[in-house]
Amino acid sequence: MAAAAEISPFRIVHTVCSHDCPDSCGVLVTVDASGRAVKVQGDPKHPVTQGFLCGKVAKYLDRVYAPERILYPLKRKAGVAKGPLVRGREHEAFERVSWDEALDAIAARLQRISDEFGPESILPYSYAGTIGVLGFGSMDRRFFHRLGASQLDRTICSEAGGEAWKLVYGKKLGAPTEDFQLAKLVVAWGANIHGNNVHLWPFIEQARRNGGRLIVIDPYRTRTAALADWHIAIRPGTDGALALGMMQVILNEGLEDRAYIAEMTHGFEGLAERVKEYTPERVAAWTGMTAGEIEALAREYATTRPSAIRLNYGVQRTENGGTAVRAISMLPALTGAWKYRGGGGVLSTSGAFAWDKKALERPDLALASPLGRLARTVNMCELGKELSVVSCQLSEGQGTEKHEGSEGTAETPVKALFVYNSNPGAVAPDHNSVKRGMARTDLFTVVHELFFTDTTDYADYILPATTFLEHTDVQGAYGHYFVQLSQQAIEPPGEARPNVWLFGELAQRMGFEDACFRDTPETMVRQALAVGADGHSTLAGMEHVTVEGLKEQGHMAMGFHGTPEGFRPFTAGRVPTPSGKVEFYSETLAAQGRDGLPRFIPPTESRWGKGAERYPLEFLSRKADNYMNSTFAHLDGHRKMEARKSQRLEMHPKDAESRGIGEGDAVRIWNDRGALTLTAMLNASLPAGVVAGQLDWAKLSADGGNVNALTSERLTDIGAGATFYSTLVEVERREGSEEVN
Ligand code: SF4
Repeated sequence: MAAAAEISPFRIVHTVCSHDCPDSCGVLVTVDASGRAVKVQGDPKHPVTQGFLCGKVAKYLDRVYAPERILYPLKRKAGVAKGPLVRGREHEAFERVSWDEALDAIAARLQRISDEFGPESILPYSYAGTIGVLGFGSMDRRFFHRLGASQLDRTICSEAGGEAWKLVYGKKLGAPTEDFQLAKLVVAWGANIHGNNVHLWPFIEQARRNGGRLIVIDPYRTRTAALADWHIAIRPGTDGALALGMMQVILNEGLEDRAYIAEMTHGFEGLAERVKEYTPERVAAWTGMTAGEIEALAREYATTRPSAIRLNYGVQRTENGGTAVRAISMLPALTGAWKYRGGGGVLSTSGAFAWDKKALERPDLALASPLGRLARTVNMCELGKELSVVSCQLSEGQGTEKHEGSEGTAETPVKALFVYNSNPGAVAPDHNSVKRGMARTDLFTVVHELFFTDTTDYADYILPATTFLEHTDVQGAYGHYFVQLSQQAIEPPGEARPNVWLFGELAQRMGFEDACFRDTPETMVRQALAVGADGHSTLAGMEHVTVEGLKEQGHMAMGFHGTPEGFRPFTAGRVPTPSGKVEFYSETLAAQGRDGLPRFIPPTESRWGKGAERYPLEFLSRKADNYMNSTFAHLDGHRKMEARKSQRLEMHPKDAESRGIGEGDAVRIWNDRGALTLTAMLNASLPAGVVAGQLDWAKLSADGGNVNALTSERLTDIGAGATFYSTLVEVERREGSEEVN
C-alpha cells in the first residue's frame, strides 16, 4: 500500500475556502501529475466542514478553469468609452499588455495623480472577495499607506452589527458552532443558515433530533425559514422592537436570570425601566406579529435551556440595524443563557483571531508618505457620493467643491480608484450614482479581477487575479474557532497573480524601498501569526500554533476551544467592555451624546417614514443562495440554480392585486434613485407591504440595472454601515409588455 501511495500521480493539498462566508471550510484539492486540479472536497477531518462543501463551491473547478476567466493584464483601447459592455464581448474594449507595461503605466499614472491632486485623491476599494488574512489586507495596505492614498472605511457588510455587538460584549465571540447541537431552542435571527452558513445546519439537525426546536425570524421565507418549527415573518427594520418587546415580557413575568445579571452585567435597572414602554401590543403594531405571538416567543426563549440565538448580518443592514443587534444580543444576558453549554448565541467568532495587523498592514509607513500622516478615511458605502466630487479648490482655508449629479462632500476629489476583492459596480448602494462616478473620463480606474464584471466595464486597466487554490494564505473564521493554512495547490493559470505579489511589485515600481515590500507570502503568514523565536505564535489563544503544525494538520483549534468543559464566553471574569461587564447601558454611546440604552426608532425609509406616501412598499434586496454577493453570479451552473427567482420581484398577492399585477407580469419598480424592470412573482409568505428582489449583476439583467439602483447611501445608526434593507419603492405593471425573461 505504501509503495502504491508513493507512485500515485495525484497529490492532495489542504486549502481554505476564502469566500465571504462564516464557515471558512477546509478544502482538499486533488492535483494531478500535470499540476492541474482535478477535484475539490471538504476536509472530512475539519470538525465544522465535516467533509462537505456548499453548492457554491462544490464545483469550484468550473470557476478556476472557466473559459471566460481573465488571464492577462488588459488595457482599455484608446477611444473606447467607459460603461456597460456586452457580455462575452468585453475583451473587444481592451488590448492585452504585459505585466511590466501595465505596472509601469499604473505606477506612473498614480504618481502623476498624487503630484497633481495629492495622494488622498487615490482611493483603494476592496472588501471580502477573499477573507484570507493576507489576501484581505496586508501588502495592499502597506502600499496604500506608503503612497498616502485615502483609507477606506470597510463598512459595507458587517460594521453596524459588529460595533453593536462589541458595545455589549467588547469582542466578537460567541457560542461555538459545534455546541449548537446541544441547544433545545435555536433562534435563527436574520440568519439564512441553509443559504450562507450551511455547516451550522448539521448541528441544528442534531439538536432537533434531540428534541430541540428551530425558530426563524426573517421577513423572507428563506430555505431555512421553510424548514423551521416556527417562521416569524417580521417586517423589515423592526427586529429591535421585537427584542425590546421580548425583554418587556421576560421582565414582566420574572423570567430573567437575576444571579447572572448581578454578577455579569452593567446597566440593568435602566434597561428594565426602558423596556416597560415596549408592550406586546405596541411591538405588534410595528412588527406585524400579534401580541400573543410576542409573548409566546419571549416565554419559549426565556424558559428553554439551553437556548441559542444565531444572529446574522441581515438584521443590521437597516437604518436602525446597530441598535437592533445591540438589543437582540442583550437577550442571552438577560436570561443567563450563556451559562448553559449550547446556549447563548453568536453573531461572529472573528474576535478570537487577533492577527498581528500592525505587522501586516504597517500603518507606520504613512509617515513616509507625502502626507507624513495617516490619510483621510472614505466610507465605502458612500462611493457614489465620493465619486461625484469632481474638483476641489481651496481658497483661504475653505474648500469649495463641484459635483456631478448627487450631493458630494467638501473633500479631495477621487481621481484614481483601485478596485480589488470587490465589485462595487454591482454591490455598492445607489448603483446609478456609482455608475455615473465610474464613467467619469478623468477618473483612472484599475481593477484586479478574475472575470469581466460590472466594475471592469469601467476600468482603464484590468489585472488578472487568483483563486484560493493559487496562492498561500492563513485564515481564521467568523463562524468557528479553527485557524487554518491555505497552501497553494496549483500554479495560477495564464498570468494571474495574487494581491500580495501585485502590490509588492507596484511598490517597487513606485520606488518604495522599504524591505517589507519584498516579503514573501510565507514570511507574511509568520507575521500574521506573530511567530516568536521558538516557532510558536505569540497571539492570545494561538500560543500552541506553529506554521509547521498547520502544514501538517491543515487546521488547529484555538486554545480555549475543544476543552472538555467547552467554551462558554461571558460567564465569568472580566468582559472586555469599559465597565468590565456585559453592557445593557453603554457609557461609550452616552459620552457621544447618544442614548446609552437601546430604543426603537423606525427607519426613515419604512412604512412609518414620510417617503411612504410616494413609495409605500418596503424593498428587500436579497442575496441569492447560490451566489456570494455578486461572486458566482455569471457562471451558468450557478445561474441555473437561481433561475426561478432571478430577475423576479416577489410581491404579496394583496399588493399585486391592488396594482392590477398578476403572476408573470412585467413590472416597473422605482424610487427617486432609479428604476428596474422585473417579472412579478406572487409570494403570500412575504409580509404585506414588502417586496423582494435578488442581487444580480447589472450587466446580466434585462435593463442593465440591479437592485442597488434602488438602495441608498444612507448609513446605519451604529458603525456607519450600509442600509440595503431600508428602501422604499413603488411598483406598477408595465403596460403592453411581456414577461421580461
Ligand atoms: S462558501 Fe462557505 S460553505 Fe461554501 S465552501 Fe466556502 S466556506 Fe464553505
